[in-house]
Amino acid sequence: MKKQWKSEARSLVLYSCVGAVLGFAFGHPFAGVCLVLVCYSIWNIINLKSIDDWLELNSIQAEDDEASLTDPPEANGVWGEIFDRIYHYQRKEKLARQELQSIIDRAQESTNALTDGVVSTDSHGNLEWWNDATCRLLGFRYPDDVGQAITNLFRDPRFKSFFEQKDYSEPLTISSPINSYAMLQIHATLFGQEDRLLLVRDISRLHNLESMRTDFVANVSHELRTPLTVLKGYLETVVDQDSISPGLMRRASNQMMDQTLRMESLVNDLLLLSRLETNVRDEDSVVEVHSILANLCDHAQSLADKNNQEIILLGTSNLQLAGIEKELHSAFSNLITNAVKYSGENGTIQVRWWDDQDGAHMQVEDNGKGIDSEHIPRLTERFYRVDSSRDSSTGGTGLGLAIVKHVMMRHSGSLEIHSEYGTGSVFTCHFPKERIRYKKPVDKNKAETEPDLKLVKFTRN
Ligand code: ADP
Repeated sequence: MKKQWKSEARSLVLYSCVGAVLGFAFGHPFAGVCLVLVCYSIWNIINLKSIDDWLELNSIQAEDDEASLTDPPEANGVWGEIFDRIYHYQRKEKLARQELQSIIDRAQESTNALTDGVVSTDSHGNLEWWNDATCRLLGFRYPDDVGQAITNLFRDPRFKSFFEQKDYSEPLTISSPINSYAMLQIHATLFGQEDRLLLVRDISRLHNLESMRTDFVANVSHELRTPLTVLKGYLETVVDQDSISPGLMRRASNQMMDQTLRMESLVNDLLLLSRLETNVRDEDSVVEVHSILANLCDHAQSLADKNNQEIILLGTSNLQLAGIEKELHSAFSNLITNAVKYSGENGTIQVRWWDDQDGAHMQVEDNGKGIDSEHIPRLTERFYRVDSSRDSSTGGTGLGLAIVKHVMMRHSGSLEIHSEYGTGSVFTCHFPKERIRYKKPVDKNKAETEPDLKLVKFTRN
């Protein structure tokens, strides 16, 4: 550039000399120099004008990341050099801006990918920026809510006092302003000049687990208290009395045995349920569902006889299932026992096992007292009983249908419950087609998948 200035100065001196010589020829050498200087000034003004136009055009294009910068206007001498330099700096600045923008875009993209909400507010508590998760968790609308006071949008007084205090050592746990079932945990940090950064986490699952845990402990304690009270009562009687009549002793022993069995089945069901809730599972095997059902119906018949009930099994004996035999046995046993226990006297219980284009199905239907529709959605909850008095007469633990539900989940199936109060209940286990296996027919001429429906009646004695 220095060189350019020197040659520019030389040219100006040279042109001035030429002007002076030409002016001298006309008798006005000073006028010749002045003319050269005027032309030089005009040339400079023209270049200044074109630099101004060009800078204005480029300043608009520099804002637009997509548009490329316009080349500098053609110019000679020092002006050409100046144009090139400005163009070079503009390109450098545009590149730097684009790089910075892409860093900002990437940072925004990554915070948008977070499942936790991130919100920044200025020193007045007005919203500046937030990510997509915040819209979902707090319902803020971007960009409509930019500049709004956060406490105007999240109006809970607990949030207001948390936000306005400056000690954020403890997070705030609060329900979402747009969904009262969602529980949020909010961490806040001060930065800059009392600007704030909030981190919003959805802890509903954790919160539900925690309340399930406390409910569970309360339920188990409640279930154990009844048999323990009976046992304690009899033991106190035995300890207090010097001699006990054989009749009382027999009654006490029978009662204590019943209560012990009740506690035992509770503990067994709890252990089974906790195993079903883990991911640990035995290998699948091919399960002969029909013969399991036949055994269960046979066992249930002794109790059914007391109630004057009839059990009918209608099933396809060559239809098998890939699954865990022990678990399927527990699930089917719970459904059949429930039908016998809860359907009342003189009823008929039908157990069916069949397949169709949707998969395989095991169904237990009774024509007993049925269940009011309000209870049906909650039947598979642990310890849920229709009779809230938890009457021990049925001997149930309240865990049976929870076990069935988990077994079905572990077999990629589902449990469907239909019941009408006063009419009866139908419990159906649906298994996916992929689990169906067919027993090879003994008769080679018979098609492998041909159903073999068999009716077994477990009649009263
Ligand atoms: P439990 O171990 O007490 O039998 P379950 O989870 O197996 O617990 O069943 C939950 C509740 O559902 C039972 O307490 C009972 O009130 C109701 N129930 C289950 N099966 C039937 C049925 N076939 N008919 C009427 N009520 C039923």
